[in-house]
Amino acid sequence: MRSYDLVIQGGKVVIPGAGVKRADIGIRGGKIAAIASELPKQTAKQVIDATGKHVFPGAVDSHFHIGIYRPFQEDATSESASAASGGVTTILTYFRTGKNYLNQMGPYRKIFPLLKGMSKKAFHVDYGYHLALFTEEHIGEIEWLVRECGVSTFKYYMFYKLLNLAGSSPEATNYLMIDNPIDLGFLYKFMKEVGRVNHLYKQHGTIALSIHCENPEIIQAANEEVKKHPSRNPLKDYSDARPPWEEELAINEVGVMAKNTNCPVNLLHLSSRKAVEAGRDVVDRYPEQSFLLEGTLHHLSLSYEMGLDRMAKVNPPLRSKEDVAYLWDAVLAGTIKTVVSDHACITKALKKGDLWTSLPGFGGTALMFPILITEGYHKRGLSLERIAELCAANPARAHNLYPKKGAVMVGSDADFAIVDVAKERKVELKKLHTAQDFNPEEGMKLKGWPECTILRGKVIYEKGKVVGEPGDGEYLMRPLALHEKQG
Ligand SMILES: [Zn+2]
Repeated sequence: MRSYDLVIQGGKVVIPGAGVKRADIGIRGGKIAAIASELPKQTAKQVIDATGKHVFPGAVDSHFHIGIYRPFQEDATSESASAASGGVTTILTYFRTGKNYLNQMGPYRKIFPLLKGMSKKAFHVDYGYHLALFTEEHIGEIEWLVRECGVSTFKYYMFYKLLNLAGSSPEATNYLMIDNPIDLGFLYKFMKEVGRVNHLYKQHGTIALSIHCENPEIIQAANEEVKKHPSRNPLKDYSDARPPWEEELAINEVGVMAKNTNCPVNLLHLSSRKAVEAGRDVVDRYPEQSFLLEGTLHHLSLSYEMGLDRMAKVNPPLRSKEDVAYLWDAVLAGTIKTVVSDHACITKALKKGDLWTSLPGFGGTALMFPILITEGYHKRGLSLERIAELCAANPARAHNLYPKKGAVMVGSDADFAIVDVAKERKVELKKLHTAQDFNPEEGMKLKGWPECTILRGKVIYEKGKVVGEPGDGEYLMRPLALHEKQG
């Protein structure tokens, strides 16, 4: 008789590509060993009763910012605990050189080993990195980062280029700690090299460039206009100061450049109707190119009409409720392929200043399932299977982790979120297990909370408590297919 370390019994299993099935899951050695209508419990060392619950693949939160505003290790531990409480079992986190993070500039041959070292024993869930590059030296390291370090996504921030132009303020120039331009000319070189390395490794996965698409010249001009005539709604002012069409403009620039450099591109955190339309136009115009359209939990659940204050300032900004509705249409239509938290843990103290000077961003990874299930499944009829695709299978595929991650298949990692899709409760800060001392969604009623999270066969969150250890999480070398072969 076969034996299992763990059997998850009685649940409705949400299987990407196959739908929702009543099944038991047998786990051995951290992997899924069997999926069957019934597995005898006497074969298992441990049994979890999931009767009446849905068993989702653990979410792959593919947009995260560990260490942006707080010391890296501390942030990795507290915020990966928050992820675990939200049914997220893999974090792909953005990292860059310059101010915040490590406050260091230099080649990744120097910085990457520091990053790896700080991450060790710090994460409650599995993790990987996307790296932002700012110098020609960095660009020259792309192939090495893919081959030796397991990094298969890079990042460029379009709105950073003015930070570094002659005449911008000295502290702004200092922000990235570089003395070279990072304009479209730099992006051109960057995309060419990502395109070249992607071609080299394409049988193993996609080497891609993630781009924050906003246009800094338009932001600067629109900021001046809005500051002259502020309204009573700070978040609307912030949206007007970074109007949706500057996203549209930036996305179109990126589309043309991607086509001419053959560079796969992730269009991050599309916030508005105009951004989604531009993303879809670019996909239609260049069907031979690879583009991934990403949405965030906050742009799918918050608008500037909700009476929130500058704590909810984020880039790109929260938009109108019509934009939120349009983003959902794009999710339902399959245009937006992944949903992420863009989690950046920040405190009220760090949000000091006024609308214009306070730091952008906030965290929300713990709300992955509740927001998708409340806003998607209950309000808009999005199927649970599609939710599993948006937050697990699709990000795993796009970021070269499938089918180890994001799949419910024999041989995949036994990562699960066991969720009660009907149970409603208010968003309470202390139940989010984060170091962030506020959340814009606080007090809102959401359904679909994870009750148990399992990472490679080990329970890491149950009954409202994070029960795993920092150090349970392992580093994921991407593309998986390349590094599994080597390993
Ligand atoms: Zn981000």
